[in-house]
Amino acid sequence: TLGLEDPSRTYRLGIMGGTFDPIHMGHLSCAEEVADAFHLDGVVFMPAGDPWMKHNRRVSGAEDRFAMTRLAVADNPKFCVSRIEIDRAGETYTVDTLRIMRSHYPDNVELYFISGADAIANIASWRGAAELGALAHFVGVTRPGYSMDRAREEYLRSQEDLFDLHQLEITALAISSTDLRTKVRNGQSIRYLTPQPVVEYIQEHGLYPLED
Ligand code: ATP
Ligand code: MG
Repeated sequence: TLGLEDPSRTYRLGIMGGTFDPIHMGHLSCAEEVADAFHLDGVVFMPAGDPWMKHNRRVSGAEDRFAMTRLAVADNPKFCVSRIEIDRAGETYTVDTLRIMRSHYPDNVELYFISGADAIANIASWRGAAELGALAHFVGVTRPGYSMDRAREEYLRSQEDLFDLHQLEITALAISSTDLRTKVRNGQSIRYLTPQPVVEYIQEHGLYPLED
């Protein structure tokens, strides 16, 4: 759906993974700024199925997170949403997702995996880290409250430069899904922190109730 069909040219495709519970302007503007800086032809948002790093809290159903992500990107022709992780049974690791994406797209499509400084710092625990470099480029973006230098150190310490990590300073938006969920539970407004169709979806479906 992103129009990557000309085999004679090279395409650059971003992949933005996340729990997206819910998606917010931090995710969207991050994807837009990376797309702009790296001349990406499109960005695929990839909501996680069973988020293996978040077992300590209840996560909204995958279908709700998928629906909100779709609503959020609907007005941007360069953005789309993939069900790859949602449709897989059990836990999905980044390396699995990238393998699937790599086999799905021909060689003239280069993949750019996008993540925030907090997610980069966890890279040591990513399964199959040694293989990642062959599958995609990595773009780490700045995020308020997280140090990119620390993220870079963690990465260098654990991976000894096994893959390509580009760093990009983006507009600082101190927005998190955790903060949005808390606001909804407290009856506070989340307008302008996420697109209005997402605000309405959360209201209509009664997501993030107080008793959760
Ligand atoms: P939660 O609070 O539930 O962890 P979150 O806001 O961190 O939610 P995730 O779905 O965990 O959102 O993040 C998906 C990806 O988006 C991660 O790579 C994360 O680093 C990045 N990201 C999220 N919010 C921002 C932001 N405000 N600025 C830059 N990157 C962000
Ligand atoms: Mg997070």
